[in-house]
Amino acid sequence: MLFDLDGTLVDHHCAAVAAAGDFIRQYARHDPADHGGEDPVARWMRLEEVHFRRYEHGEITHTQQRRERIRDFFGTPGIDDGRADELFGHFLDFYRSRWTAFPDAADALNRVRDKGLRVAIVTNGALALQKMKLERTGLFTGDLMMFCSAEIGCAKPDPGIYRHVLDHLDCRASEALMVGDNLANDVHAARRAGLQAIWLARYSRTGNTTGEPFIRSLADLPV
Ligand SMILES: [Mg+2]
Repeated sequence: MLFDLDGTLVDHHCAAVAAAGDFIRQYARHDPADHGGEDPVARWMRLEEVHFRRYEHGEITHTQQRRERIRDFFGTPGIDDGRADELFGHFLDFYRSRWTAFPDAADALNRVRDKGLRVAIVTNGALALQKMKLERTGLFTGDLMMFCSAEIGCAKPDPGIYRHVLDHLDCRASEALMVGDNLANDVHAARRAGLQAIWLARYSRTGNTTGEPFIRSLADLPV
C-alpha cells in the first residue's frame, strides 16, 4: 500500500500556515497595502501553490520553485540564489518545528503492516526533508520505504513516478493501492499507471461534487 505524505499522513497545510506566519513576522514585515491588501500568509500559501505546481509539471526544478517563491513573495526578482536559499532555509526552520502527524496516521500504517502488506511513501518533495518529517512526527519505522520526486526526477501527476516505485518494489500495478489527498496526483495519476487508488478528502468541499468516491479519514481505509 502506497501513501502520499503531505496532507495525508502529516498536516502540511497547518504547519506551512503557522511557519509562514513565523517567517513573515521575523523576516518580511509587509504592509498589506503593498499587495492589494492580500493577507501575507495567504499570499505565501498562494505562491507555494503556484510554484510547486510548476515544479510538479516539470517547468522548474524542486530547488527553483523554492527560489521563485521567495523572489515572488518579496517582489524582488533580483534576489540571488544564495540569498533566496538562505531565506527559504529560515522558513524551513519554522516549518520543521510545526510538523504534526494527523491523529489517524500512525494507527493506519500499523493496521496495514499488521495485515502483512508492504508500506511505502510516494511524495513530491526532497528525501532528506520528507524523511525528517516522518521521523519527527513519530511515523518513521525502519521498514518504511520512501520514494521522493526530487531524487527520482519525476513528480506526481506524471504516472512515471508510480512505474518507478513499482519497479523498485517488484510489484504489479494491479496489486498496489495508492492513498492520498490530491485527486489529480494521488488518484487519477495512480490509476493511469494501473494502480488502484483511494481519495482521502479530509476537508475537501469538492468531495461531494466530483463523483469520485472518497474517505474522510484514514480510519476508514478498507484494511
Ligand atoms: Mg498530499
